Amino acid sequence: MFNVIIFGPPGAGKGTQSAMLLEKYELVHLSTGDVFRSNIKGETELGILAKSYIDKGQLVPDEVTIAMVEDFLKTRPDAKGFIFDGFPRTISQGEALDTILSNLNTTIDTVLALEVEEDELVKRLLERGKQSGRVDDQSEETIRNRFGEYNNKTEPLLAYYEKQDKLSRVHGMGQIDEIFARLCEAIDKKA
Ligand code: AMP
Repeated sequence: MFNVIIFGPPGAGKGTQSAMLLEKYELVHLSTGDVFRSNIKGETELGILAKSYIDKGQLVPDEVTIAMVEDFLKTRPDAKGFIFDGFPRTISQGEALDTILSNLNTTIDTVLALEVEEDELVKRLLERGKQSGRVDDQSEETIRNRFGEYNNKTEPLLAYYEKQDKLSRVHGMGQIDEIFARLCEAIDKKA
């Protein structure tokens, strides 16, 4: 198996780049944000709970998110590898992921972190809010809360993977294809 994590603050382009990477490297995409949104649409119990956090720009509690990821991975035993987009977002999620993967006799191979200036992120998110109707992309206050969550809870994970020599920081500004090429270079270097 070959497993990749893509980090980046909201609006960094994780979803766009993951869609391109999973084709090239034949990976299964796990976007926890997408799974939450499809549960919200289906009005499941998980969706109703998740919505109360997502609409405020807060993280969904770890135990809920981790259980969801565990279920997702269990139902894809034939996957050649995964691209984790938006997970893990806290140190305890990172530790839980290590345990889950080690029970599947696999591990994280490469960690990518997209770096984009904050003004550019706000611009991209407000534009996406208009196009997609995502509630959490429409208010600047919610967007700022999400940056706060990223800086406080998710950023420390970068050091966690840096210590394991798995992290590549990638410049996330410019054309989509240019950024994709930088990500592929980073993956191929570690593979
Ligand atoms: P995303 O689509 O990755 O930007 O996620 C949208 C929202 O879903 C986030 O702002 C969080 O409220 C929630 N979410 C997604 N992934 C996670 C996670 N790993 N842990 C906690 N909350 C998450």
